[in-house]
Amino acid sequence: MKLASIQADGGVRTATILDGELVDLHRADPEIPEEMTELLAGGEPVLERVRAAISSGAARLPLDGCRLAAPVPRPRKFFAIGLNYADHVAESGQPTPEHPTVFSKMPSCVVGPFDDIERPVVSTALDYEGELGFVIGRRCRHVPRERAHEVIAGYVVINDVSVRDYQLRTTQWTLGKSFDTHGVVGPWIVTGDEFDPHALDIRTTVNGEVRQQSNTRNLIFDCFMQVELLSSVCTLEAGDIVATGTPGGVGIAHDPPRWLVPGDVVRVEIEAIGAIENRIVEESPVGLPVRAGQKAG
Ligand code: ZN
Repeated sequence: MKLASIQADGGVRTATILDGELVDLHRADPEIPEEMTELLAGGEPVLERVRAAISSGAARLPLDGCRLAAPVPRPRKFFAIGLNYADHVAESGQPTPEHPTVFSKMPSCVVGPFDDIERPVVSTALDYEGELGFVIGRRCRHVPRERAHEVIAGYVVINDVSVRDYQLRTTQWTLGKSFDTHGVVGPWIVTGDEFDPHALDIRTTVNGEVRQQSNTRNLIFDCFMQVELLSSVCTLEAGDIVATGTPGGVGIAHDPPRWLVPGDVVRVEIEAIGAIENRIVEESPVGLPVRAGQKAG
């Protein structure tokens, strides 16, 4: 099943994607939450309603006419794993890690699967990282890896957009990973019962040129191990997102580096999930809600 969030009537609503069509879930059944985190937290009873809404044939819309938002527009947590494919470790000049390198992307960086990516005012070192992501489906803690599949709602495609000078000038990567628009997630959540997440082809292109090509079987630390580790630290909740790491071929690994520039189109596709595609634009420095001399909040 493909669970999406769509922009509709000035807000964002949950939907499920069929062939060329979608079902506006809250319109088909008002008991189905409009918000993805709530829908996922509702668990099997809500998914049962979703299946019923699909078979009812109600509230169908053409997919063409709809704008997709990130499936979880504002996750409470957005973890990411660094250095998790051997070829990417090699091109980074780092030793193979003994433990997953976990960092955070601020939830405010999340954008939809076809939204623009901004090149920041403060840097031109803009890079892509195509990645498999997963979304937590229910509140959990201390989940052993053998049971991790039970708490994963499904899988998404992610571009962990990175600003390399901000990322690498200190040992902590948070700032370089958290610029506005730099967490592309989508196009929808494919529920986890449909395929083996560790056997999927993944590919990143820039203006049609293949830059990254691998398979998720090459992950050093797999998704289930990541759930075990993260849930040993904190309670995971419905809607939390994990980006699982990027294969080799990132822009910074080229000599000279091949940064993304305005006008570029970067596309990440993963077998059995789908594709996200985004245009690079200059960040607009105008329209700041907080002006100099004015206190925030
Ligand atoms: Zn990454």
